[in-house]
Amino acid sequence: MNDNIIKYAFDQLTDKPVFINDAANGINCNCKCAKCGERLEAIQGKTNEWHFRHYNRSNCNGGQETVIHKYAKQIIVESLQITLPKYGKIAYTEANAEKELNSIRPDVTAIYNEQKIYFEIAVKHFNEPEKNTFLINGKHKSVEIDLSTLPLISSPTLIANAVLNEITNKRIIFWESTPVINYQVQDDKDNWWTNPFVILGFIACSFLGYKWVTSKINTKK
Ligand SMILES: [Zn+2]
Repeated sequence: MNDNIIKYAFDQLTDKPVFINDAANGINCNCKCAKCGERLEAIQGKTNEWHFRHYNRSNCNGGQETVIHKYAKQIIVESLQITLPKYGKIAYTEANAEKELNSIRPDVTAIYNEQKIYFEIAVKHFNEPEKNTFLINGKHKSVEIDLSTLPLISSPTLIANAVLNEITNKRIIFWESTPVINYQVQDDKDNWWTNPFVILGFIACSFLGYKWVTSKINTKK
């Protein structure tokens, strides 16, 4: 199977990703290339594997990473739950793609437990270190989904499964602050000499000492 084959295109009107099996045949697919923006035709013959072809016969590779990245975002936006490592299946609402968050632009923003949660999808490019630092320092709940090992000819079902159900391809960027262990506990306690047992012990020892001394004096008499 040819891995360079173009299986995904953008709809000319809606800009939404279109999989070859879901497209109308030939030029009627109304599709454009994700890389060069040129018109594509759907080739759905009986001998060759179904694919998109540039109408102008260009050698452009079709920018499949771009479509799959957009398609993965659409999957999260259209779903209401996702399975994460450690935290299992979580439900979210108000998923939105490319909402600005100060200096960074997360792939998908949603609401989980009345808090914002951010999803980053890596098809070829992983999060820049500054983006990770920003999410961690800002204590933003965030998850990275790695689709880099997924073949670019994967069906929409396979992509949806990788995005929503698999956990080995996900990494929690930030979730919650680890509780800090308090080593200052001793400082909050009263000083040892204010402890009543220590005071009673001191009095008892003083009394016994006094008795011992006086008994010695008495025996010398
Ligand atoms: Zn192209």
